[in-house]
Amino acid sequence: MSNRLGKTVIPILVGTLLASGAITAYAASQDLLPDIGTTAGSTLSINQELAMGDFYLRKLRAGAPLINDPLLLNYINQLGDRLVQSANSVRTPFHFFLVNNDEINAFAFFGGNVVIHSGLFRYVENESELASVLAHEISHVTQRHLARAMESQKNSAPLTWAGTFGSILLAMANPQLGMAALSGTLAGTQQGIISFTQANEQEADRIGIQVLQRAGFNPQAMPDFLQRLADMSRYATKPPEMLLTHPLPESRLADARNRANQMRVTPVHSSQDFLFARVRALGMYGSQDNPFNEVLLNRWAKGNIRQQQAARYGRAIQAYQAKKYDDARNTLQPLLKKSPDNPWFLDLITDIDIGQQRAAQAISRLQKVPDVQDNPVLQINLANAYVEDHQAAAASKILRRYTYAHPNDPNGWDLLAQAYAAQGLNNEEMAAHAENLALDGELDQAISLLSSASSHSKLGSLEQARYDARIDQLRALQQRFRKYEKS
Ligand SMILES: [Zn+2]
Repeated sequence: MSNRLGKTVIPILVGTLLASGAITAYAASQDLLPDIGTTAGSTLSINQELAMGDFYLRKLRAGAPLINDPLLLNYINQLGDRLVQSANSVRTPFHFFLVNNDEINAFAFFGGNVVIHSGLFRYVENESELASVLAHEISHVTQRHLARAMESQKNSAPLTWAGTFGSILLAMANPQLGMAALSGTLAGTQQGIISFTQANEQEADRIGIQVLQRAGFNPQAMPDFLQRLADMSRYATKPPEMLLTHPLPESRLADARNRANQMRVTPVHSSQDFLFARVRALGMYGSQDNPFNEVLLNRWAKGNIRQQQAARYGRAIQAYQAKKYDDARNTLQPLLKKSPDNPWFLDLITDIDIGQQRAAQAISRLQKVPDVQDNPVLQINLANAYVEDHQAAAASKILRRYTYAHPNDPNGWDLLAQAYAAQGLNNEEMAAHAENLALDGELDQAISLLSSASSHSKLGSLEQARYDARIDQLRALQQRFRKYEKS
């Protein structure tokens, strides 16, 4: 299942940016800043950081084109977790997200949330380079650079800071705004409020390269990738976005190179998953730039055995995207024959099945996989196939379990709402839809849907109790978020 459930982008950002002057005035008039006050010198607590992370994540979901591709998210989260396990001072859980954007960028924000642009898959030559970007972002988080930057903002109310931060965060993730809006925001506020200081950058590199090496990647990948960024900013008409938020003076590059040279060199190969992730990201998201993809796929078709497999997978994706389903099926077949349980292949072949109105075939294919019960990627694919095959009851049975285990995956709630709708279970449909609204931070609307569901259910029923309890939870969340809302 690819990102077919992706929603249209809500243009809330322009308003947010234009209103920033008003925000400042509003926040300055508030003298009660209980939880995130920093004037007394107390550092932002981890709990406050988590709450802010949760708040901004919902804003990001609502305002940025996040890619909800189960395979790509699974891949970057596994890669990220492997790095986090080699990091020190980990105080929060980490979550890794992908934004559909051709620009090179990556950023971290409160509560262990790390976002990378899909365009990064074009510019990293190997898995260690991708890991070096994640290791750098992870280190901004473990070193608490944002919290420290927030503390150092003297005389500016934390709420102002939070509002500005929210705007910038969304500007970075939103391709429709681009550089002009972002530079404008930075110029309009105090430069450096989110673009980290040089000291921060050096520290994120220094800590990050250790994390990279401990996790078993090639430390040279960090200066290699920084060098590529530097070259791009030298020869391109506009510098990579990433350099705006992560400044890169010569000294930073030289330091990274020196550090890497002092580390032991061990040859590291990119995993097969990295190669699959790269061709999938480039073939399904962003501009799907054909000249670039052609060069890559042709090169890998003549490369080592893993590159050849990835090239074939990339060709199958290309055919699928062009709706040439027979082509896609024939191209994928040899890979599938060799590894019938491989989730990358199964996901694509079942999408092809569904594209050719053969959802029943997709279902029987997935049911044959031994660990289908324990693999979330296959579970969501199976549920999708059941929905397509009009087996709504079977779909909702899987999805109730899935959404319980993965409450933050919008795919699960989306499919569950569809499955309930097909069964005429309107209250349950509203409740599932409410969960997706809540994930987007639309708590008023979520509560209102749940209230409808509650008032339409049988008085005193278990369903009603469940909806009411959820309303209470969302109200509490609303209360907690109130201090971060600007108006
Ligand atoms: Zn940085």
